[in-house]
Amino acid sequence: TRKFFVGGNWKMNGDKKSLGELIQTMNGGKVDSNVEVVCGAPSIYLDFVRSKLDSKFGVAAQNCYKVPKGAFTGEISPAMIKDCGVNWVILGHSERRHVFGENDELIGQKTAHALENGLGVIACIGEKLDEREGGITEKVVFAQTKVIADNVKDWSKVVLAYEPVWAIGTGKTASPQSVLCWVRHFFSSGSVTGATCKELASQKDVDGFLVGGASLKPEFIDIINAKA
Ligand code: 13P
Repeated sequence: TRKFFVGGNWKMNGDKKSLGELIQTMNGGKVDSNVEVVCGAPSIYLDFVRSKLDSKFGVAAQNCYKVPKGAFTGEISPAMIKDCGVNWVILGHSERRHVFGENDELIGQKTAHALENGLGVIACIGEKLDEREGGITEKVVFAQTKVIADNVKDWSKVVLAYEPVWAIGTGKTASPQSVLCWVRHFFSSGSVTGATCKELASQKDVDGFLVGGASLKPEFIDIINAKA
C-alpha cells in the first residue's frame, strides 16, 4: 500500500508574501513522516516555492501541456516543470475541465506526456451535480478514469484523486463511498478541513486528500497529520 497522500491545491491564490508565510509555517510544523505531502503552486511561483519549501514536501504544477515545446502561447511543459526542480503535476482538475473546457482525450494525452517526462501525476476525476442527480455518476467517472488509465503504464507515479465537483469549495464534506469502492486508489472529498480530516482519514478506502481552501491555512498541518 502507498503512503497516505495529502495534496494541497492552492489554485490561483497567494502572492510571494502570503505563500512565503505559509511555507514558513509548513517548514516549521511537525509533520508525520509517513505522509506524502505535495503542494500545487501557481506556475509563475513554482521556482519560488520549490526554492523555499522544505525538501520533505513535494511541489506540483497545477497543469501542463501535452508536448515538450513549441508555439503554444501561455502553456508550460513537463520539461519546464522539472527544470524548476518540481516533480509533480495536477491534471484534469474539475476547474480545468469545466472552466477551461479540457476534455477526457486531452487530459489523457497530457497524462501520457507528463509520465513519459518523469513527472508524478495527480489525476483528478469527479462528477458534477447535474450528472449525479441524473444518475450518471458512474458512467462519467468511469469514462474519465478509463482515459487516464489507458495512458498509464506505471501506477507508482500516479495518484487518482476523486473530487465530486458539487462538493468543491463548498466547505461541505462529501461521502464518497459508493464511487470509492470501485475507484480504490485515492480519495479526496470536496472540502477537507482541519475539523473533518481525522474522521475522513479513518474511513475505509480513503488513502489521501486533495485539499483546496484549507491548504492555504495553518490548519493544513493538522490535515497532513490526520492519520497520526
Ligand atoms: P476545497 O478543499 O476548497 O473544497 O477544494 C477542493 C479542490 O478542488 C482541491 O483540488
